[in-house]
Amino acid sequence: MSGELVLCWLVAAAATVREHRAHLTELDAAIGDGDHGINMDRGFAAIRKRLASGAIATDAGGPLLVDAGRTILGTVGGASGALYGRALMRAGTRLTDLRSNGEAAPLAEAIFEGLVAATEAIAALGRSAVGDKTMLDALVPAQAALRAATEAGRPAAEALRVAAGAAEDGALATIPLVAKKGRASYLGERSVGHLDPGAASSALLIRALAEAAGSGRNLDDHLRFGGTVSS
Ligand code: ADP
Ligand code: MG
Repeated sequence: MSGELVLCWLVAAAATVREHRAHLTELDAAIGDGDHGINMDRGFAAIRKRLASGAIATDAGGPLLVDAGRTILGTVGGASGALYGRALMRAGTRLTDLRSNGEAAPLAEAIFEGLVAATEAIAALGRSAVGDKTMLDALVPAQAALRAATEAGRPAAEALRVAAGAAEDGALATIPLVAKKGRASYLGERSVGHLDPGAASSALLIRALAEAAGSGRNLDDHLRFGGTVSS
């Protein structure tokens, strides 16, 4: 995948995380330790700084995602730093693997593969599953919706909007759940009635992806992984 979409996504993600920082922190204050917005903003601000410094090549999406994941790992403590950091690194590696096959792949397929890799990384590292009241409750429905919409022939940007809606629904559906993982699990039944902060941030990240894919030019034109974008 070209670096352009990944770059657009990282910039959009940093902006939405900044915008929702207080909200994410409030959600975490209710069932965790009140640092999720601060953690996310620290990580994405560091990514933005790195992008602005010109220190990273932005022509290919895979290495860019790996670098972003490393930056999160290096700047964010806490569960979300380890989980999102690993997730981005794995997604980047998956995109690079796809590229090294030398085949053109539809954009939606590349994004789907990246999302699957990210989700698998979180589930493996967090030993968590759908229904545990975590980020997976937003990411897994997003992945399923993306696949269904793509199979139904919807263009990538539209399929991603459907996926973002599914992520938001999935995040809201964490409200009645008992947390099984992370700090919120210490509360047991008292975690019921609260939206999981990580599911909320995951939904923001998928919405940012839909916005990045829907912005401006037709990204379906850029089918070659690693293809550079001239304009
Ligand atoms: P910490 O819990 O270390 O303070 P954050 O507040 O930044 O880290 O992130 C909390 C979020 O991380 C939770 O809302 C949840 O979505 C996610 N999370 C925590 N533990 C796990 C896990 N084992 N698997 C998946 N997600 C998890
Ligand atoms: Mg926290």
